Amino acid sequence: MTEVPLDIAEYLASPDTLPEWVRFYRAYPTVTAAVQAVGDGESVAVFTSEHTAYVQRVVLIEGKPVIEVVLYPTAQARDALVTAYLNHSDPETATAAILHALPHLLPEDIDLTGVDCVVEPGNGLAPRFGFRRRVSAVGLHTWRDYDELHPLGDLYQVLSWHSTGHNIAEGTDAVAILRAHRLPAVGCEACGESLTSRHPSWPGTWVCLSEEYGPRCEASDDPYRELHELDAAGIGGPHNPATNDLEPVV
Ligand SMILES: [Zn+2]
Repeated sequence: MTEVPLDIAEYLASPDTLPEWVRFYRAYPTVTAAVQAVGDGESVAVFTSEHTAYVQRVVLIEGKPVIEVVLYPTAQARDALVTAYLNHSDPETATAAILHALPHLLPEDIDLTGVDCVVEPGNGLAPRFGFRRRVSAVGLHTWRDYDELHPLGDLYQVLSWHSTGHNIAEGTDAVAILRAHRLPAVGCEACGESLTSRHPSWPGTWVCLSEEYGPRCEASDDPYRELHELDAAGIGGPHNPATNDLEPVV
């Protein structure tokens, strides 16, 4: 039985601790315990989106234990990436261009030393794009050691769900940056949402990713607004994609 450090015991006892961390720290109260489990063939990983969506894994790379974190762009930044990916005719070229563009979506002062832009396969509309940091777990015993020596810092903050004015680019800003990197990102001129005409549910129709029920531009004028106030919330027109200057898709 692994000894549970005091800070982890307190964290586990707190009613504010999220369930994913309770499960993780119960199973692996120390880095040492996690490394031992990986050596025994267990998959050691926790996904959380408490402030920022990220996965923390302990893995073996060339036989050496490594703590790996992948932070994922969320919300409107993710929408811009996925729609640009879908709008491109060649997934491999799109993937390479997105990996190249990812750092440019971040505020300029973000230090990406030791961080790689990565793509992870998935069965959804697009693969997952993220920022990956790996640090050796050799010599680390407690999670406190790890957190204090290797804080996630500014990258964690700029990818937060909470807008601080110092976040990853979203919406039309993200679309402009992706287009500058030869990606066919498209924004709606009315509502600013990122659009695709290649959503599998709506091929040939410009929709944003959440629109399983078809396009419903929030900024579209409803000519009958005055006539049926109670119904107005349910009415929206087509989006207005800013595609005029779109470069030909290769
Ligand atoms: Zn719109």
